[in-house]
Amino acid sequence: MFVNNNDTITAIATPNGIGAIAIIRISGKLCFKIVSSCFVSKEKKQITELQTNTMSLGFIKQKNKLIDQVFLCLFKKPFSYTGEDIIEIYCHGTLYIQNKILKLLIDNGARLANPGEFSLRSFKNGKIDLIQAEALSELFRAEDEVAHALAIKNLNGKFSIFLKEIRKDLIYLNSLINVSLDFDEDNISEFNYKKFITTLVVLIKKIKRTIIGFKTNNILKTGYSLVLVGRPNVGKSTLFNLLLKKERSIVSNISGTTINYIEEDFFIKGIKYHLVDTAGIKANPFDKLDIKGIHNTYETINSADLILVIKDNLEKDLEKDFKISRKKQIIIIINKCDLLKTKIISNKQYILISAKYRIGLEIIKKQINKRLNSKYQKTDNIINNMRNYECLKQVLLTLMKIKKTRKNSLTPEIFSFLLREANYHLGKITKIVTNDEIFKQIFATFCLGK
Ligand code: GDP
Repeated sequence: MFVNNNDTITAIATPNGIGAIAIIRISGKLCFKIVSSCFVSKEKKQITELQTNTMSLGFIKQKNKLIDQVFLCLFKKPFSYTGEDIIEIYCHGTLYIQNKILKLLIDNGARLANPGEFSLRSFKNGKIDLIQAEALSELFRAEDEVAHALAIKNLNGKFSIFLKEIRKDLIYLNSLINVSLDFDEDNISEFNYKKFITTLVVLIKKIKRTIIGFKTNNILKTGYSLVLVGRPNVGKSTLFNLLLKKERSIVSNISGTTINYIEEDFFIKGIKYHLVDTAGIKANPFDKLDIKGIHNTYETINSADLILVIKDNLEKDLEKDFKISRKKQIIIIINKCDLLKTKIISNKQYILISAKYRIGLEIIKKQINKRLNSKYQKTDNIINNMRNYECLKQVLLTLMKIKKTRKNSLTPEIFSFLLREANYHLGKITKIVTNDEIFKQIFATFCLGK
């Protein structure tokens, strides 16, 4: 896709169509030579004599034929967007003039640029890093205030600065281990180990906070995922409708009415929740539809932020039947309290409700808000996308591995292996380790002339 970097590239940088003014960009080694062949300055100066970063008036000519009166701006390398010599021509915006000038530049030796190729050169010449390139791409696509603010933040290098700090901390950790090992072949000195662990813990906290910032940001946009699970007929659909304040799920006393899941969003105190009402699991093992329903239920449970387990009695082991991992956050709800013969009350283990008679709804809402929103405090987000989030998570996991390694097992080999792993994941975010596939994905999203 991105061919020769030695070519001088050109493109119309303004949107396709007619406008008052259009901008044509040209960048590369032959930039000044190519423009000289069709531009005459009003002051009769050579291109190289023109002041940089300043508009100069002149004429575009094809041999002696005048094509347009234009302004031209020169940016000399390395002080330009691409880091190469660049000229921007501001011409009148008719399609005829735009195409005529573009053709003149191409006939004189320039090549038509690919979308994003100017930015790719900027990245390759060290003018912007990968995060800034991504931020640019996101800026073009930002259609709301939050997305725009994040792109601007990263264009100014906020995330890049954070990553530089992390890299510095990793180098410091490395020095602590290595200095210690120089003095003591077998072990790390007590003093350095203490310092090492303190620095490591601070670093882990710093990365965790940033990761939470991204999650919070995403959650505020997409909502927390909640799932309702329980045996057929316990009242899942009734509670679903109650939380949503509308009849969305079919309520019936015929066991197993909800065979597949339905989902809807609702809000508690302005926070968005995405609620899924699952299929019950009392199913016919020979019925393909039932089996598919059960499979869907397990999958939904595994990806939820919080599981609402509903029962209509105090039966145990339901969590096991649904294969709910112990790590998952759950709230146990006992429904149909209106039918209970013996009087019991809500406690730390379960919430007692009657979905049909709207008893206990407020307690459920309070619990949901408490469980999820204490986990994700409101933090500022600086991570710009899922790819970078995943890379940073890998850095964190590797650092956690180092933290878990016992002091006397922390040999230079193990440590440098893990540190290299952390550096590798960090490098994937910026530019040190990366591959052409990622370049293609990022720069292909740019428009022509950028
Ligand atoms: P699901 O299969 O778990 O989705 O259960 P449904 O919500 O369809 O409810 C099954 C039956 O239980 C319906 O007849 C409901 O009216 C009834 N039901 C739901 N909640 C309560 C409750 O709190 N008390 C009583 N008495 N009946 C309820």
